[in-house]
Amino acid sequence: MNQVALITGASRGIGRGIALELAKLGFDLVVNYAGNEEAARQTAADCVAQAKVGGKSIRAAICQADISLTADRHKLIDFTRSTYGRLDLLVNNAGVAPNVRADILDAGEESFDRLMNINVKGPYFLTQLAARWMVDSLNVERSTLGAQRSKPKIITISSISAYTASTNRGDYCIAKAALSMLTPLYAARLAEHGINVYEIRPGIIATDMTGAVKEKYDKLIADGLTPIQRWGTPEDIGRAVAAIAQDLLPFSTGEVLNVDGGFHLRRL
Ligand code: NAP
Repeated sequence: MNQVALITGASRGIGRGIALELAKLGFDLVVNYAGNEEAARQTAADCVAQAKVGGKSIRAAICQADISLTADRHKLIDFTRSTYGRLDLLVNNAGVAPNVRADILDAGEESFDRLMNINVKGPYFLTQLAARWMVDSLNVERSTLGAQRSKPKIITISSISAYTASTNRGDYCIAKAALSMLTPLYAARLAEHGINVYEIRPGIIATDMTGAVKEKYDKLIADGLTPIQRWGTPEDIGRAVAAIAQDLLPFSTGEVLNVDGGFHLRRL
């Protein structure tokens, strides 16, 4: 039986890149999306095809759910349960940027609330639902098999914005800084159950989210903003997720993986 991964916001961008890498590893997938059904269907089809190239047979199911809504978070978990009956990996990837980048002296509460709901409250409470299910499943496994065989994991995609001040999108920075507390909290709480929890902190990645500021970032990268002088790709993030998913970091939990071309390095 294949392992199962639920990836939020997997219709496009980084989430899609993660789904494609997990497909290569032979994971069955739940491709969550908010509104773009066509893109979600395309990702699911591409994942099945990608797995086939490597000789693997997987299933990929799409599920619409707005992770900021309580009922939708339950729907997503219930869908995963009824479709596959198990959950080995939750990837909290879905997130949004402010609709308008506004100076922090002008920015309004509406954008702040939207970002906190989608980027923080959504993953925090989705993780709670997933973690409860994982713990219950592990208890059943231990009592029926006498040992724990599966090693469920949780990965959250935060951002370099968790520690980088962008004064024209303070709401995004504050949301990502808050999100960065999810991993130490759940890592500490779930270690006794054998569930490892990780954060991946992407740098500047080429997706729809950064499309509007492409020229600005092209210049910054060319001027040496990142030691590795190129844009990151969804595949870069997918490969980091794949390393964790393959259990290559079994004695690490609560860890942050910077996948940012070295952006986080202080240089003199
Ligand atoms: P993107 O290209 O804009 O894609 C966003 C994805 O999230 C889409 O699949 C979208 O679904 C989904 N989504 C949006 N709101 C949602 C909601 N309320 N509920 C469920 N799904 C929702 O963004 P991205 O660049 O791939 O970013 C993915 C994650 O990486 C975000 O958390 C972002 O903050 C983070 N990140 C991005 C960068 C970067 O440079 N791009 C850097 C650091 C961190 P639909 O297709 O249905 O709209």
